[in-house]
Amino acid sequence: MSNLDVTPQLTTCGGRAGIGAEPVRELLAGREVKLGESTAVRRLLPNLKRRMVGAWCFVDHYGPDNIASQPGMQVPPHPHTGLQTVSWLLDGQVLHRDSLGSEHVLRPGQLGLMTAGRAIAHSEQSPQDHAATLHGAQLWVALPDGSRAVDPHFEYHAELPVLDDGGVRATVIMGELAGARSPGKTYSPLVGVDVALAAGADSRLPLERDFEYAVLTAEGVVEVDGVELAPGSLLYLGCGRSALHVRASTSSRMLLLGGEPFEEKIVMWWNFVARTGEEVERFRDSWMTGDDFGTVRGYVGDPLAAPPMPPIPLVPRGRER
Ligand code: MN
Repeated sequence: MSNLDVTPQLTTCGGRAGIGAEPVRELLAGREVKLGESTAVRRLLPNLKRRMVGAWCFVDHYGPDNIASQPGMQVPPHPHTGLQTVSWLLDGQVLHRDSLGSEHVLRPGQLGLMTAGRAIAHSEQSPQDHAATLHGAQLWVALPDGSRAVDPHFEYHAELPVLDDGGVRATVIMGELAGARSPGKTYSPLVGVDVALAAGADSRLPLERDFEYAVLTAEGVVEVDGVELAPGSLLYLGCGRSALHVRASTSSRMLLLGGEPFEEKIVMWWNFVARTGEEVERFRDSWMTGDDFGTVRGYVGDPLAAPPMPPIPLVPRGRER
């Protein structure tokens, strides 16, 4: 998905300052962002109070939306740099096309992992013949400096490891949980898990003490370390935990995201992750002149134009909050 905000602000993030070194329970309200004319998404990262969790730098939760007899998701070709996009569906389908020629229909339980590296363009659409409900998450992972210029590639994984523990079913989207590892390629230590809880579920998820974590509820209500978490907010948990207590009184669904605190400062603007404002400007110019990003074949319609750049200075600076 694209950041379709028409006046995106330049965001600097990363670095050690502000990391919750000890376990914390910070409830961070998301904000509603319009995607196109009809769809609204809940943007949970970057958040006013916290911009990254490990290398996770962008978290949108959308739906469940009834898109019967509607076009549904229609995101024209747009560029990415310096990040991976993790497309995760809870319901419905999304047709992914990119400038490498990849074309896949993504469905619930399957991972669409696009490593933008130095440059890629993609489109995302509800297929013409689509299910009535669309529900999912669009997540970005920042690439560390040594990997951010890798060749772009797309991974489609139809099968992911699933852990079942009496009422809790955990699908490992990225990284590893309790010895089960996702086949998705990662460039820094991180984890992403979809956790489905049956009514009455009560369990402990194993965590890494040196990772920071956050949780969002996609459906129902999950009690996370004693905090009732409903859709629309992100619960930041800090570092220093070896387990996380989760309970649900009704059937619920949550995403657990974590990773080693991302030490590098990055600059995010629109669909680019860079290191300086000048670099963002170069990426933007390159997209607008048609160089470097390639063409998304099979998509009917115009690509997205980049919004105007905000005034400089655009050097990485500041803290997480
Ligand atoms: Mn995108």
